[in-house]
Amino acid sequence: METETQQLPALPDSHGKFGDYGGRYVPETLMPALDDLIEAYEELRDDPTFRAEFNHLLATYVGRPTPLTYARRLSEHLGGAQIYLKREDLAHTGAHKINNALGQALLAKRMGKRRIIAETGAGQHGVATATACALLDLQCVVYMGTVDMARQQPNVYRMQLLGAEVRGVESGSRTLKDAVNEAIRDWVANVQDTYYIIGSALGPHPYPMICRDFQSIIGTEARAQMLAQVGRLPDEVIACVGGGSNAIGIFNAFLQDQVKLIGVEAGGLGIETGKHAARFANSDFGFSNSTSALQGQSQTHSQSKIQNPKSKIGVFQGMKTYVLQNDDGQIAETHSVSAGLDYAGVGPEHVYLRDLGRVEYTNATDEATLNAFHTLCRLEGIIPALESSHAVAEVIRRAPELSRDAILLVNLSGRGDKDLNTVLNAGNVR
Ligand SMILES: *Cc1c(COP(=O)(O)O)cnc(C)c1O
Repeated sequence: METETQQLPALPDSHGKFGDYGGRYVPETLMPALDDLIEAYEELRDDPTFRAEFNHLLATYVGRPTPLTYARRLSEHLGGAQIYLKREDLAHTGAHKINNALGQALLAKRMGKRRIIAETGAGQHGVATATACALLDLQCVVYMGTVDMARQQPNVYRMQLLGAEVRGVESGSRTLKDAVNEAIRDWVANVQDTYYIIGSALGPHPYPMICRDFQSIIGTEARAQMLAQVGRLPDEVIACVGGGSNAIGIFNAFLQDQVKLIGVEAGGLGIETGKHAARFANSDFGFSNSTSALQGQSQTHSQSKIQNPKSKIGVFQGMKTYVLQNDDGQIAETHSVSAGLDYAGVGPEHVYLRDLGRVEYTNATDEATLNAFHTLCRLEGIIPALESSHAVAEVIRRAPELSRDAILLVNLSGRGDKDLNTVLNAGNVR
């Protein structure tokens, strides 16, 4: 299928909607805070001193621009398309998350808020936020499910070393969605002096927009680097999708180009097992994507022994979006080998881009992901995050089928040091 050049409207609209998705579904007490945030952001995003301060920190503290690396051995090994890696793994704290955390911490400071709260799952966003708060002299409280705290001990220590207070959350499944709920509760109670930094392109308007804008530096740089280093744009851009921030960050610069955009979700143990976090692979709606249609065939009725969660449009954590739910309408327990993709909801702009057919969504299983992880280690000397390894898995699937002059650009969203225990426990898949 040829990708048509499309003139997409600038979104979200004045209601914070991307088509039918997004919006603001929060307690009444938070509406004024969201109004203040919209006002402050709209003023500051075009403010030359704010932009200069952000750009200066990106260059001198985060280490931007991150390089664009030609993956020569991986390309030769696969025998098809030429593969380029956008190296967000080389950003300070080891992933793209610092771009958003730092941007929002600067925003909070400009708004006169000295107390920052954040939620974290694996701890990556918590570490990025604690880092930004140390740098900018802001008080920092991070909510984290106690199950996640046990699984991600090193990141708990990191946050504490950086001066943050980590508050364990004992409710629900004691993981990310429960941490978000607790952070929202804190925000309602302390909205006067507190700024809530959400870690992905999620939540009520204006958060998905703000996060996209701060992360769009990834695509802006990568597009210019492709033109400078290769002399043309890539044919396809591939990124993993948890909440969707690294993906929208790299896609945003290519939306108006004739470039195919591919988001990769967590396929977990396989869609048919019900243990995954692939919001776009398993819904009640018609899908044009053939991969999804195929996977849909294995879906069974509610009498099935396997509880296979399905995506439904719902209101979840402040926004209208696709949410994986069980037959009884409860938010589904999701599964992924990578904590960063293990989430029932997805950023509303992705749902919009999917409906439009502008971005194609697929998924990679845990097994394909671990394989991709090892392949990149051995062939390129790069230990990728398991989240990013999902995007690499899709490249390994696609590249051999493409000609040698095709170009694939992959967003390597983070480094894999944090995942060594998981990989060792999974055993040697080779
Ligand atoms: C958190 C994380 C992700 C997933 O979050 P997005 O908002 O979808 O980008 C992906 N990669 C890494 C390395 C992460 O830390």
